[in-house]
Amino acid sequence: MNEKTKEQTRLFTQMVAKKQGWKLNPDESFYEDLVDGLTNNYNRHGYYLCPCRDSDGSRETDKDFICPCVWSWQDISEFGNCYCALFISESLAASGEQPASIPDRRYET
Ligand code: SF4
Repeated sequence: MNEKTKEQTRLFTQMVAKKQGWKLNPDESFYEDLVDGLTNNYNRHGYYLCPCRDSDGSRETDKDFICPCVWSWQDISEFGNCYCALFISESLAASGEQPASIPDRRYET
């Protein structure tokens, strides 16, 4: 398996944000912690498992929360940020407000 570097992970997050019209969390140290988590998860599991969630054991069972997770679009549209607050909406970024702590839809039925 090819290991990812932190720089490759930063590029990945930049590409996702650009494609979706999102912004990255402007708090540099918070952002770097998430980049570390994503990079470690990729190098451990072989895919960008969400840095704020634990693996269920396989790619198949984790597929909903491989970044960007299936809930990210709804969360960013409704709350202004994804569960980890890695990605935020353009309007939240423009407001200068902090991302909020939001419920994890993974556990919603
Ligand atoms: S919560 Fe954010 S960082 Fe985690 S998988 Fe979803 S989009 Fe990626």
